[in-house]
Amino acid sequence: MTPDIAERVRHASAFIFDMDGTIALGDAASGGHQALPGAIDLLAAIAAKGVPLTVFTNGTAKPPAAYAASLRQAGFALADAQMMTPSSSAAAWFVRRGITRVRVLGNAGVAAPLRDLGITCIGAAEPANDVQAVYTGWHRDFTFPDLEAACHSVWAGAVLTTASHVPFFATANGRGIGASFAINTMITAMTGKKAKVLGKPSRIAFEAAADAMGIARRDRSRIVIVGDDPALEMRMAHNTGATGIGMTTGIMKPETLAMLKPNQQPHAVIDRLRLLHDAL
Ligand SMILES: [Mg+2]
Repeated sequence: MTPDIAERVRHASAFIFDMDGTIALGDAASGGHQALPGAIDLLAAIAAKGVPLTVFTNGTAKPPAAYAASLRQAGFALADAQMMTPSSSAAAWFVRRGITRVRVLGNAGVAAPLRDLGITCIGAAEPANDVQAVYTGWHRDFTFPDLEAACHSVWAGAVLTTASHVPFFATANGRGIGASFAINTMITAMTGKKAKVLGKPSRIAFEAAADAMGIARRDRSRIVIVGDDPALEMRMAHNTGATGIGMTTGIMKPETLAMLKPNQQPHAVIDRLRLLHDAL
């Protein structure tokens, strides 16, 4: 880490951490999480310094509170309000746009943050008129009737939105398929409409996290984003003018950094969280 980047870490207005591959790894045996080395201490040190932090995963399989509980089980001191998923930023975006009726292609974890804000969630294949948005997330039970219903809603004017639009994610057993990417691709092919991303790496997700932490507009360029996915956290840093710190403990590998596009390049690359802790 260069002195310039260490300085940005020291003076950060807030931190946005990715979860999987950055501060924790999924634990197949327990179905929960295991903290990565130094992660619990780092988050505690940031909290002790009085700097706000959010953990923002791009997974929507569970509601944010369930992920927060899993991280507390792993030893983190983290409140439910400090945990976000794309559905958290999606719900805030729908409310701001006056969207109250959303067809959700996803499980209960996808819909929960929308319901919490009073949005009517219409089932994937449920007959309905006046659908204002179609929202896709973690949805392994996808069926052909879901595709038909989503396409009819989009043809009738609903905006197509998604939690995430990356084809793969890392699992203990190798490559997993991003469910929403596969579903979006089908709906886009049928309707000609591209899905608007409401999770990472969108500015919408970044602003939702900054709003949740109460960070003033003028201080948002001093937010530090820490993650292991060039297409998500690093791209979000470039999209927003924040600083992106890349961790090589997940899917980012030192030997492939040179192949990344300029808008996915980390501002600094670290292989252990202790280096951030030292810079605080
Ligand atoms: Mg990750």
